[in-house]
Amino acid sequence: MSTPKIVILGAGYGGLITSRQLEKSLRNGEAEVTLINKHDYHYISTQLHKTGAGTASDDKITLHIPELLKTDKVHFKKGNVQDVDFKEKKVRLDSGDEIEYDYLLISLGFDVTTFGIPGVEENAFKIKSFQSTKAIYNHILRQMAAYKEDSDPSRLTIAVAGAGFTGIEMVGELVEALPKLCRTYNIPLSETRIINIEASPTVLPGFDQEAIKFTTNYLMKNNVELMTSTKILECSPTSIELDNGEVLPSRTLIWSGGVRGNTLLEKLDLPTSRGRIPVDEFLRVKAVENVFCIGDAALFMKDEKNALPPTAQVAIQQAELCGPNIIASLRGETLKTFEYHHKGTVASIGNKAAVGKVFGLKISGTFAAVMKQVIEARYLFVLGGPSLVIKQFLKIGKPYS
Ligand code: FAD
Repeated sequence: MSTPKIVILGAGYGGLITSRQLEKSLRNGEAEVTLINKHDYHYISTQLHKTGAGTASDDKITLHIPELLKTDKVHFKKGNVQDVDFKEKKVRLDSGDEIEYDYLLISLGFDVTTFGIPGVEENAFKIKSFQSTKAIYNHILRQMAAYKEDSDPSRLTIAVAGAGFTGIEMVGELVEALPKLCRTYNIPLSETRIINIEASPTVLPGFDQEAIKFTTNYLMKNNVELMTSTKILECSPTSIELDNGEVLPSRTLIWSGGVRGNTLLEKLDLPTSRGRIPVDEFLRVKAVENVFCIGDAALFMKDEKNALPPTAQVAIQQAELCGPNIIASLRGETLKTFEYHHKGTVASIGNKAAVGKVFGLKISGTFAAVMKQVIEARYLFVLGGPSLVIKQFLKIGKPYS
């Protein structure tokens, strides 16, 4: 009998941690594992806002995937997944390569949803991947340089759509970044504007009142213009039209209005719901054999009505079980059911402040910012042990272009 082939699609939080689990627990020669990802680097999605604002260097946000794979049990293949043939059990890449599998894990992450608002898809910047956020930073630099030539205020008006978790993290990072950038380009900070547009009546909808109050005060103290209860109707390369009748002259709209599963998922021959693939309690895709799906790509119902949110915390916990469940499948053993344990949520507002709840305790300010660092460090620890934590923390968070 030939060696079973396990193929993992996507080396984000879900795919990488599953790979680590397989490396640890597979016996030598028990299976061939291939990890496929678009790029040869893994980006730390939870810190992409830093790339967008240029407050962290590339090597703090990206990690070279082959260096993270510690044994020769998992082989990395750089490739862009185009399609999966579930009957033939083959993955097709855009290079034309076909990779056969016996067990498949779909962990292809998220895409941004723009709700069909005219002009957003074409003109807004997305917090989606390392490349998309790097494009935000490079655009801001170009606008600053051009402002020196034409003094057009739309170049220095940065709008962030959405004051949810990601939007607030983006705004907080811009608050931190702009003074430095203004010094570099010799532009008075007072000539810049950061505007946060949110359809709900408050920032951080769903967070508790203290967190909302702390964040509102912090942002207002730092001259962020909060436009709550406001919807974007349309966006062009140079302006944003709002439902209050205002037209904001701005060449930078950063969209963080919501996420959905990777759009590729809907092209696969599988049922999807809300852009994500429904999975059973063992993290298996319903109706196809030996296919698992985790993270933002998966729709895991925690009860009859509510799905688990698309978070790194969910993706990591699912990956920690998915590895063992794939091994149990190939050994013909009993699979374990997935149980999610919510440990808390902390949103950063720049480097020095954060808000959230950890193990039921409400936190804000500097202590919360430290907790956020601890959470990020824990992820690095799971991925590469203490040496990776030390290596990443020693890197200087210098801006780049
Ligand atoms: P991802 O991490 O998105 O990985 C998907 C991988 O698939 C990527 O490497 C991608 O390149 C690859 N891929 C995609 N398409 C293809 C293709 N066609 N072919 C090959 N490879 C492909 N969650 C939290 O729990 N806490 C936080 O504090 C937090 N902060 C966040 C801050 C920001 C700015 C953002 C954007 C998200 C944040 N999240 C947070 C959410 C978290 O990042 C996601 O839930 C998490 O990344 C999901 O992991 P995943 O493995 O499902 O997908």
